Amino acid sequence: KSNQITLTFSSIAENVSIARLLIASIGGQLDLSLNDIEELKVAVSEAVSNAIIHGYQSVPNNIVYLDLEIADDTLIIVVKDEGCGISNVEQAMQPAYSTDPERMGLGFVFMQSFMDELQVESKLEVGTTVTMKK
Ligand code: ATP
Ligand code: MG
Repeated sequence: KSNQITLTFSSIAENVSIARLLIASIGGQLDLSLNDIEELKVAVSEAVSNAIIHGYQSVPNNIVYLDLEIADDTLIIVVKDEGCGISNVEQAMQPAYSTDPERMGLGFVFMQSFMDELQVESKLEVGTTVTMKK
């Protein structure tokens, strides 16, 4: 099986559910369990939420890029923003680390535990690219 889907959307919270629907549908095309699909949805919504809330600081007229690729039964998901970037990726990925005292700091923890591979590339004032594989 191979497939490729690219979606770009505005940086508004309502679009998190669009990303979830898309990933659920793709998960259905692979032979994934309902539990695996639920986990994919969480991982993708955490990455997309981070792009909107942190990358673009909730400013709505920016673009989030979601790229899905299936090759050899591997699903590769790329979530990209051209926002503020992360100054220290290693620190940002620590459990319970958040720059917002109101947040749990668990987004990266979920991505890490629900996906087989997680890679975060970021540059200040350039943006952040999160690549996940399952
Ligand atoms: P939660 O996900 O539990 O609501 P959180 O978003 O703060 O809390 P993580 O998702 O683990 O926790 O992210 C940790 C920190 O990394 C964030 O607080 C933020 O500072 C930074 N960060 C994550 N994604 C981005 C991004 N796309 N652009 C800029 N900063 C980011
Ligand atoms: Mg988060």
